Amino acid sequence: MQLFKRLFPDFKVQKISVNAGFSCPNRDGTIGHGGCIYCDNTSFTPGYCLCGDSIAEQIKKGKQFFARKYPEMKYLVYFQSFTSTHTDSLDTLRSIYREAMGSPDVVGLVIGTRPDTLTPKVVDLLREINATHPVIVEIGAETSFDKTLQLINRGHTWRDVESATALCHSRGLHCGLHLIAGLPGETQEMILETVRRACHLPIDTIKLHQLQIVRGTELHRRHEAGELEVTPFELNEYLNLCADITETVAVESAGRIEIERYTSQAPPDKVIAPKWGLKNYQFTDRLRRLISTRTLNPNQP
Ligand code: SF4
Repeated sequence: MQLFKRLFPDFKVQKISVNAGFSCPNRDGTIGHGGCIYCDNTSFTPGYCLCGDSIAEQIKKGKQFFARKYPEMKYLVYFQSFTSTHTDSLDTLRSIYREAMGSPDVVGLVIGTRPDTLTPKVVDLLREINATHPVIVEIGAETSFDKTLQLINRGHTWRDVESATALCHSRGLHCGLHLIAGLPGETQEMILETVRRACHLPIDTIKLHQLQIVRGTELHRRHEAGELEVTPFELNEYLNLCADITETVAVESAGRIEIERYTSQAPPDKVIAPKWGLKNYQFTDRLRRLISTRTLNPNQP
């Protein structure tokens, strides 16, 4: 059963993204400058988060947007932008989360972060919150290959991912892993190997997306300059890979891990490649059809 349905069996939940003004240790000099080479944080931040409103105000605006269609809906506050466990102090972090939890109809938090900022003290704070408001920690791992992590300037290792997931699990938190398919220098076999390794971690979900070359990023600059070879996925190639990944996760995790997402779409005017012209739900429909065809004709290539 899907994680959200398991956690909230009695009502529908919707994520509301908020921008709490977090920074990123890989940009502000704590561990590095410049950030991951593909990162353009504005490309995954909804418009209503960019205005400098308080967290409570952003939640209110997000709710107004969704409540028209589903008045009974409950909400998970999604700290998606930058690194949502990275602050100057634990008290600051606590007050940010408390402001979100204090808004009406908020039933849980989703915390997007890096593995190297999940210290025991931070994880203990999340455990405290989890006692009343389920917490799902989304950890950006991207790949299990340290060579690639270095190339894309992530500033952490796969060992950090293993430690962070183990720590979150030991405190009873729900954990999702974020992966990117198509990073420079990685073959499809390497991507599947990362998925296999992820399946042996104590996680509940995997969130995957294709590498996008986003305008203005370091990846874009290096790609244009011919300094880095990046081959964006063709649609059918990525569909087939996602079908392989789905089968791998089902087998390796024995059905324990759910794939929450396969694609991500930065705003069209920002994406250099790939440009498939498909909405996420259209991709998922085509993937479902492909998987059912494979099940019916298992010997087809
Ligand atoms: S992708 Fe995340 S960790 Fe990397 S620079 Fe952007 S915000 Fe920081």
